[in-house]
Amino acid sequence: MLVDPDPVELSNLARQVIFRTRDIGTPKIEAAARWLGERFPGVSVERHAIALDASNAARLVAANNFVIDATDSPAAKFLINDTCVAARMPFVYGGVVGMTGQAMTVTPGETACIRCVFETPPDEDEIQTCREAGIVGPVAAAIGEMQAGEAMRASRAQTFLLSGKILTYDASGPGRVRIAEVRPRPGCDCGAWQQGHRESLSPGK
Ligand SMILES: [Zn+2]
Repeated sequence: MLVDPDPVELSNLARQVIFRTRDIGTPKIEAAARWLGERFPGVSVERHAIALDASNAARLVAANNFVIDATDSPAAKFLINDTCVAARMPFVYGGVVGMTGQAMTVTPGETACIRCVFETPPDEDEIQTCREAGIVGPVAAAIGEMQAGEAMRASRAQTFLLSGKILTYDASGPGRVRIAEVRPRPGCDCGAWQQGHRESLSPGK
């Protein structure tokens, strides 16, 4: 299932690697479905040309087994987080600013969620700073690849590589990829911290 209300624009081409100039003006979900269909003829793609919002998020999320956050707005990222946490739906977060990208998989109730890490969405000044930093195409592609890997693990019922861990890809220097453990934040509404709390209180630990 693909959810996106926008057409492909020229400015997307550097970082949204599946689109070409011939796709400009075509809805992204249609261009992406065509790309998928040309490579994987057996795949059927459900398409929704709408923006994810509070009125439709629960319904759209519930129709899947795993969600990939490929959005570019903090508000959408927190909506995906909160909806997936409520539905106990695993998802992979991805974010890119300038030369740096991050990816993290959330298994609701078990591992840290986006609010455990960031608590609240950034304010307008921070968002503006991110906009000015832009997004470097190959970094977005690298983060997308990590997210695709997690989706593949979900489809095979394999253990996630990034559940409870945040991967940082820094294209500006050596040691480009770091993976750090992320602990649930005590008091976060996702409740994952209580899971750890219970484990630490259980006998024999
Ligand atoms: Zn949380």
